Amino acid sequence: MTRGRFAPSPSGRMHLGNAFTAMLAWLSAKSAGGEVVLRIEDLDPNRSRPEYTEALMDDLRWLGLTWDSRAEDQSQRGAAYARAMDRLDAMGLLYPCYCTRDQLHAASAPHASDGRVLYAGTCRSLTPGQRLAMGTTRCLRARVPDADVAFTDGLQGPQEMNLAREWGDFIVRRSDGVAAYQLAVVVDDAAAGVSEVVRGRDLLTSTPVQLWLYRTLGLEAPAFCHVPMLLSPGGRRLSKREHALELGEVRRRWPPEKVTGYLAWRCGLIDRWEDVPPAELARHFDWRRVRREDIVIDEREFM
Ligand code: GLU
Repeated sequence: MTRGRFAPSPSGRMHLGNAFTAMLAWLSAKSAGGEVVLRIEDLDPNRSRPEYTEALMDDLRWLGLTWDSRAEDQSQRGAAYARAMDRLDAMGLLYPCYCTRDQLHAASAPHASDGRVLYAGTCRSLTPGQRLAMGTTRCLRARVPDADVAFTDGLQGPQEMNLAREWGDFIVRRSDGVAAYQLAVVVDDAAAGVSEVVRGRDLLTSTPVQLWLYRTLGLEAPAFCHVPMLLSPGGRRLSKREHALELGEVRRRWPPEKVTGYLAWRCGLIDRWEDVPPAELARHFDWRRVRREDIVIDEREFM
């Protein structure tokens, strides 16, 4: 059975971009007769707030995007992440990193094609004696192989990445002791039996490293569909700056089926902007109709 998921971070009120991703995740699962799991991604203790969790669940329900079960919040899953780290460690794939932020962002640091700073491997081959002399561990990193990972995204098509050259050794446990996103998302999606991950295109480049984690941990990987981002007319990702596109604001102006109809129209699922609830969109849902390119939204349309 198809099992999709919503994986929102409760770090702010939901905005139209989050609603769009959730709608496509729901439509994909429901149109296949499947289920959706809700998982709150509250790994970051400084940014997550329970009132945002409440608000986003209320917004999802208001939109008609219901879930069939709720997995444990990520903040409760430390033991599962620690077990996964132990397994990686037993394979010799983890090492402590002592680099400071300034060292990581030094002028000589290598960059990926998208501008991300790659880890230079400074702490990769320290001897036990050298480690003792380094002092406090900042984070734990996974040693990635010099290997190409290829997969076919359900919307964006064939993808390929060399882990060492284009991603680098990545953090699995942050300096505050909390599991890092890449590890947590794999452990949790696998534990929940998620069979398809529908999420924003900004996470497309994370997928090869997550696939490597699935394989390394002996877990079955889901299928992936990376959906377009909603952008402001200036080309930025929608954020809290577009206040009018926050669900709290949107809900004051539009009924839910107008929002879902608008989003369905903008991504190509329907030909005209009509009020359509998700349950009706699910009857005709087809990934082949969904556009791949990012979508520019002018918040003035909503005012
Ligand atoms: N929690 C992430 C977000 O809200 C999504 C992560 C994922 O879908 O893998 O952007």
